[in-house]
Amino acid sequence: MADASAEPAAAEPAASFAGDPDGFERLWTPHRLAYIQGDRKPVDPDDAAQCPFCRAPGLDDAEGLVVHRGRTAFVVLNLFPYNPGHLLVCPHRHVSSYVDLTGEELAEFTALTRAAVFTLRAASNPAGFNLGMNQGNVAGAGIAAHLHQHVVPRWEGDANFLPVVGRTKALPELLEDTRRRLAAAWTTEDPAD
Ligand SMILES: [Zn+2]
Repeated sequence: MADASAEPAAAEPAASFAGDPDGFERLWTPHRLAYIQGDRKPVDPDDAAQCPFCRAPGLDDAEGLVVHRGRTAFVVLNLFPYNPGHLLVCPHRHVSSYVDLTGEELAEFTALTRAAVFTLRAASNPAGFNLGMNQGNVAGAGIAAHLHQHVVPRWEGDANFLPVVGRTKALPELLEDTRRRLAAAWTTEDPAD
């Protein structure tokens, strides 16, 4: 009788995970299951049931790539990272614009963005950050219907020729390893204080 556990795991569709597709392919350098099947987006952006950022908080942390949960907002790893530790801060509500946030959501969204920076500083010691929101497809948002703030740690020399020649990024750490490390390191305090 065949041992089911010996069969290779099937790749899972990228669209069901939290992530902001950007057109790059990912090359997972610690070679294991690569669960990217292309940068698929929800068919109907107004349908929250198809939205990866609405789905993620309902999964357990490891499956949903959730790093931290707040009351009105949460933090997930981007399934399509520019760098290891590329985080997305998302409101729980399926709203597309920064100005759609209530006062309470805005305060927590901002606080979680700051905590994401502190956590990455404490865990990964990056030399800098890119922070930002792309609002609307025209502005480059992969999932335009659900607001998300990118927090991207940067290191000297982190960009190399691969994105230019192959539209491929090399990532030296598996997402679940990154998620577990950042969730454990989560802090609202500036590590420099
Ligand atoms: Zn959503």
